[in-house]
Amino acid sequence: MFKRKAQYEVRTAGDPVLSRVAAPVGIITDEIKQLAEKMFQSMVAFDGIGLAAPQYGESLRLIVIDVPLSDEEKAAGLTPFEESMYNSMPMALVNPEITAVSGDVAERDEGCLSVPEIYAPVVRPARVAFRAQLLSGTPIEGECGGLLGRCLQHEIDHLDGFLFTDRLSPEAARRIDGQFKRLVEFGKSHDFRRVKRK
Ligand code: ZN
Repeated sequence: MFKRKAQYEVRTAGDPVLSRVAAPVGIITDEIKQLAEKMFQSMVAFDGIGLAAPQYGESLRLIVIDVPLSDEEKAAGLTPFEESMYNSMPMALVNPEITAVSGDVAERDEGCLSVPEIYAPVVRPARVAFRAQLLSGTPIEGECGGLLGRCLQHEIDHLDGFLFTDRLSPEAARRIDGQFKRLVEFGKSHDFRRVKRK
């Protein structure tokens, strides 16, 4: 008769779990699959395109992504690997790892569910080679650019204890400094959690 509202959570900047180097996932157990499912639900609840396990409070090398393909990137052309990635969205990636980065860089505004309402330009390699496992255990490996390549770098950064705010130019860092400090202060009195009930 009464349906309990589901509760979704994301940890916010200042939570120590976000600065830790996350542990590799060993065997892909049912618990890992359930964690990926809960992370996916939280990502959707907060309208994100990616979420790393530390943002969910679990210091494990697991990410979920649901990167939209823009008309612009579609028109610019995708490699077969990028196309297969977009066709597999949303996806969970276990132990994702950047294996090589391009020499050329790209700049784009980034945001983060753990850093709400703060956006700033981040310069990153334009393309990356990466490998990971799917929840089925199947290994995947390939190169990605565009928003997908950027999202992978952002999420894998979370697994190494970095936020996008650690990657800013001195000017951009100065610009968001006050807002970021207020966010961390606010987090201290809210257990570094954003909670949404639906
Ligand atoms: Zn993030």
